[in-house]
Amino acid sequence: MASTALDLKEDILRLKKERNAVILAHNYQVGPIQDIADYVGDSLGLAYQARETDAEVIAFCGVHFMAETAKILNPNKIVVLPDKDAGCSLEESCPADKLEAFLIESKEKNYYVIAYINCSGGVKALCDVICTSGNAVRIVEQAPADRPILFVPDANLGAWVMEQTGRKMDLWKGSCYVHVEFTRDSIQRIKDEHPDAVVVAHPECTTAVRLLADEVCSTEKMVHFCKNSPAKNIIVVTESGMLHRLQKEAPDKNLIPGPTDHCACADCRYMKMNTLEKLHACLDSLEPRVEMPEDIRQRAEAPILRMLEQSK
Ligand code: SF4
Repeated sequence: MASTALDLKEDILRLKKERNAVILAHNYQVGPIQDIADYVGDSLGLAYQARETDAEVIAFCGVHFMAETAKILNPNKIVVLPDKDAGCSLEESCPADKLEAFLIESKEKNYYVIAYINCSGGVKALCDVICTSGNAVRIVEQAPADRPILFVPDANLGAWVMEQTGRKMDLWKGSCYVHVEFTRDSIQRIKDEHPDAVVVAHPECTTAVRLLADEVCSTEKMVHFCKNSPAKNIIVVTESGMLHRLQKEAPDKNLIPGPTDHCACADCRYMKMNTLEKLHACLDSLEPRVEMPEDIRQRAEAPILRMLEQSK
């Protein structure tokens, strides 16, 4: 039994080797998990890593839909998630049965359905193609011109993509509870405190917040932005875990977390459910595992593979 933080890390690495496991971590994970992971990235990068790994076990440090995506792409591998209750407000906002009922009701529209990857396997199985915030513009640009688009589940990301592409879409009314906590007032206040700072914001933020940003992009693109920006002070408007990665990649920059009206930064309670202790436990017991019915997995895999193909 590991007793100190150092023992715990060493024991995680021992178990990882014994289990022939790879540890994948999302950019929003706590610093100690990012530091021990084999790969840290956004949903798109993690999907590629999950597809390419030779490991027999994937320990996925993120939220459930991300681990489920890894399982969809790797049906013969064991995929474990440190905390099985690590959900997502965006995923919850679009249940598969509601989407299915809506598509039946609006059958005559013949929607081309694009789903942001932050959704369940059941929703993915109902869609034509998946996108991430990093490739959403490219995916929408490749949608058939003669069909109306339904974009699920994030209305804020969808609105931003419409601005970028000029393509009209019908938007499902879902949102990320973390990114909608940033307000025009909270971001304007921090800008006033740091008048020389530039602002980079995630497209899950509301339009009012995005309008205050110098750059709107996915978490992975934030890394490039922060490294290459001539500005010394950068206000980062996304979940707080991103600051850990950015500070490592751009150590010469002064990174300022975007505040909400109530807090100095925004934490996702789901992302923060994972801990080193739970990672250790799941590598030890190989539980909790992510499983799904094979017919849904197969139907969910096709739009993910289409996304990977269209992102090349
Ligand atoms: S930050 Fe938002 S979109 Fe990401 S997992 Fe948390 S609730 Fe879901």
